Amino acid sequence: MSDEKKVAIRRLSTAKDMGKFMADYYYELDDAAKDDKQKIAWCTSVGPAEILRGMGFLTYFPETHSAMLGTTRMATDLIPKANAIGYSPDICSYLTADIGAFLEGVTPLSKVFKGIESPPKPDVLVFNTNQCRDVQDWFSWYGEKFNVPVVGVHSYVGVKEVTPSHITSIARQMENIVEPLEKVAGRKLDMDEFKHAVTLSRECSDLWEKCLAAASATPSPLTFFDGTTLMGPAVVGRGTQKAIDAYKLLLAELEERVDQGLGALEEERHRIYWDGMPVWGRLGMHSKLFGALKANVIASTYCSSWIFSALDAEDPFNSMARAYTELFIVRSDDYKEQYIKDKLDYFNVDGIIYHDAKTCPNNSNCRYGMPQRLAEETGIPSLTINGDLNDLRLLSDEQTKTNVEAFIEQLEEN
Ligand code: SF4
Repeated sequence: MSDEKKVAIRRLSTAKDMGKFMADYYYELDDAAKDDKQKIAWCTSVGPAEILRGMGFLTYFPETHSAMLGTTRMATDLIPKANAIGYSPDICSYLTADIGAFLEGVTPLSKVFKGIESPPKPDVLVFNTNQCRDVQDWFSWYGEKFNVPVVGVHSYVGVKEVTPSHITSIARQMENIVEPLEKVAGRKLDMDEFKHAVTLSRECSDLWEKCLAAASATPSPLTFFDGTTLMGPAVVGRGTQKAIDAYKLLLAELEERVDQGLGALEEERHRIYWDGMPVWGRLGMHSKLFGALKANVIASTYCSSWIFSALDAEDPFNSMARAYTELFIVRSDDYKEQYIKDKLDYFNVDGIIYHDAKTCPNNSNCRYGMPQRLAEETGIPSLTINGDLNDLRLLSDEQTKTNVEAFIEQLEEN
């Protein structure tokens, strides 16, 4: 049995810099909203942020707010407020928690960042359905509330191979949102600013990829649980120099740890891959649970979702279309299986956790036999945890603990 008191997890000192980055980001948005100085666009987490930067918008990402509702454990009480106005308890608990928070007039931002009373009001909302349809419904609800336009890109799902026709279709849709956005911005898209944002996004993506790749070292300097908060700049800051500066610091610390042979856990006996979303309200608990068993959850499909290696400033629309269609979440099961197999090799993994998040089928890959197929092909065992990203009523801590302990025991025996 694990003894959580004895867990020795080494914290990264640059986590503080990431925290400062997020604070600056939210204060800048709050100032802009109060002074009405700069237009604000709400954007989905894998939406076309670079286009928005090319028109001078500040961008706010509601999913990050929802994740904060999860980490602060406010979400579970707020979800029923959205259920009461017709949003099912079975749909995305980011959506229901966020709309519930709006209906109640509460936000975790005011708990974490003194002086911020609410999320910034949008001038426009911009989505890409590459991750799911829920984002369109979510943004449309706010569009009505704030009486502002909602524009979006409708993407493909289950893509086996990204073809020129996918790229053409998505790139044209991206071009088509420019005109309505220009009306809101009150100015034209500046191609130089746009290309510059694509260049910065690509650099941010490359640095984030290197940070995550550092976990291939043994012992790994990083845990998945660290990664879920360290990824903040890659989500909200892509297309900015500040995000690049933050990741240069993080990468330097990770490389230093690798050089010194310092792992995130004092002792790393097992290396685990995580598929799916984190349980935001249980990050600390899960980190300690695995850490106490000397099992490091080192890499994930989730944190890698903000790597956009196809971005190319010389061909901004087409390369964005490719980057935002090559995403793991958009792809077919065949592709996903090969992707995970490659990662198991690369990170030298000896066990997989699948998080079956009840309200996000889009990020749950264990429902159609993938764990069994991968176990057969690779010999690497897996465990499925039933839970949710935000709704804590949908998981049992006792069950998770018992199952994880039994799973790690099985790895020990192997
Ligand atoms: S991908 Fe899942 S968690 Fe993210 S917005 Fe869509 S349903 Fe919600």
